[in-house]
Amino acid sequence: MTQARTRLTTDIDYASKGKQLGFLRLVHSDDRYAFGILPIPLAVIANGDGPTMLLTSGTHGDEYEGQILLHDLIRNLDPARVTGRLIILPALNFPAVMAASRVSPLDQGNLNRAFPGEADGGPTSAIAHYLTSVVLPMTNAAADLHSGGTTGMYVPSVYLHGGGDAGLRKRKLDGARAFGLPYTVCAMATSDSRSMSAQCDRMGIPMVATEFPGAASIDIDSLAIGRAGLMRLLHHFGVLPEAPPRDRFHDTKLITPTGAGSLVMAPLDGLFEPLVGLGARVTKGQPVARIHPIGEIERASAELMAPHDGLIMVRRANTLVTRGDYVYRLARDFSEAEYLA
Ligand SMILES: [Zn+2]
Repeated sequence: MTQARTRLTTDIDYASKGKQLGFLRLVHSDDRYAFGILPIPLAVIANGDGPTMLLTSGTHGDEYEGQILLHDLIRNLDPARVTGRLIILPALNFPAVMAASRVSPLDQGNLNRAFPGEADGGPTSAIAHYLTSVVLPMTNAAADLHSGGTTGMYVPSVYLHGGGDAGLRKRKLDGARAFGLPYTVCAMATSDSRSMSAQCDRMGIPMVATEFPGAASIDIDSLAIGRAGLMRLLHHFGVLPEAPPRDRFHDTKLITPTGAGSLVMAPLDGLFEPLVGLGARVTKGQPVARIHPIGEIERASAELMAPHDGLIMVRRANTLVTRGDYVYRLARDFSEAEYLA
């Protein structure tokens, strides 16, 4: 294989066995880093012959459940249990992770809108390009672990991009079922061609993403569900031969966000009072939130209604809202036949 042109380097030898811990060096020069490198943590755990699986988190820096799951895996997984190779990048957009920010403070880059990336682009684009040109070509399956981030909370879910042919979609769906989170979100109309999922679709690699509750925090129950599910996913894709227990397994429910009509927006500035929780089933016209205007206490609070029957998939985490902010995103039930069509 000829080495792809990239400005990222590493001392890790992807072909070696055992557990190697190190980093990718991303050279970047600005007021803060004149001659510095950005060390993006990298672990490679390999043993015997088998498939290669890529695991990433910190694609958005303020999403934490996945980062903790991958730190845990790096520290505790004995290479002797692996057949094949795990490539683990727990803080993929390292500058964003260190800034507790969704996007990179260096170039405002959203790494999940930067694929396929450019070798000579800004730091975020260069990271995407390294994955596209060096890591993904040796990857047989991938998982990118997201959460709701600072402003949002999701139902614990596998998130599947709508791209790829029916065969690839089936492989992704089988991965989602093995993961066993409560929900699987099939993102169809809302898929973005610049995401890592879309890049994997273009390269024929089955990839599952996740959404954990988020709110820039850790939901203990969801973390436990995610930890058990991640081991099942590694087994499903052939990297862990020993079958893990069906601990905290959920027969995942397929849902899909219902386009622009799925958003419930704040019609005025104020305080968001949720009336229903994440995962609640709501009916069209049901009151789901109140917005209390702060500076006009003589004015009645605004009552927001569900725009259609559905399930609360995303909830705003912040209470202070500005007119136009979304406070909920709804989803409807979806089926395997619709996803594979
Ligand atoms: Zn994210």
